[in-house]
Amino acid sequence: MDHNPAVIADNLRRVQDRIAAAAARAGRDPAAVTLVAVSKTNPVAAVEAALAAGQLHFGENRVQEAQTKFPGLRAGHPAMRLHIIGGLQTNKARDAVRLGDVIETLDRPRLAEAIAEAIVREARAPQLLVQVNIGDEAQKSGVSRADADGFIDDCKGRFAAALAGLMCIPPADADPAPHFAWLADRAAKHSLPIVSMGMSGDFEIAIAQGATHVRVGSAIFGARG
Ligand SMILES: *Cc1c(COP(=O)(O)O)cnc(C)c1O
Repeated sequence: MDHNPAVIADNLRRVQDRIAAAAARAGRDPAAVTLVAVSKTNPVAAVEAALAAGQLHFGENRVQEAQTKFPGLRAGHPAMRLHIIGGLQTNKARDAVRLGDVIETLDRPRLAEAIAEAIVREARAPQLLVQVNIGDEAQKSGVSRADADGFIDDCKGRFAAALAGLMCIPPADADPAPHFAWLADRAAKHSLPIVSMGMSGDFEIAIAQGATHVRVGSAIFGARG
């Protein structure tokens, strides 16, 4: 991994250019696509380099790692936004609500309960996205396609406007486009504004299918060890 600030700034510019080009090809406004820089496993210096280059949204998949990296950056960067993008144990819900501005991995009723309780205790309400296990893969977290509509309705009832969208990670070995299309369609049907999909290998395809947020790690920070 290369944490040279100039390399990170350069990579960010390149990814932003690719986002703009993909949006233009799809006839979409590039400003309607938010880049979430996935900084997991990278040191706080890498996050600082990205912040210095103007990047504001970051994604972490482990609450504990986010806890060591992000609270110290808040004061100097009030516009920074942290997205929790990893599968959440219910006993981590309170930390996630305290730390995160967006929790992208709401995927089951027990976790919804734990997050609701944490929102009351912390007096803080992050935006919430329902993660759909779009390929119905045994090893992946997320609500199944079949249960998605019911769970989304339950979460809307519980969280109202804090329930802001949907997130998915498509199967690695298949064409992601139909999966992305399904998620965007679901979000539209439920009038949810955020569609988080697309990573380093497929974010342009996701933008063509309607992603509002792409989560890009290695194309910015280099391959993870
Ligand atoms: C690691 C991760 C990403 C970023 O993956 P890259 O391939 O490095 O861009 C995006 N989303 C989630 C949920 C991740 O865990």
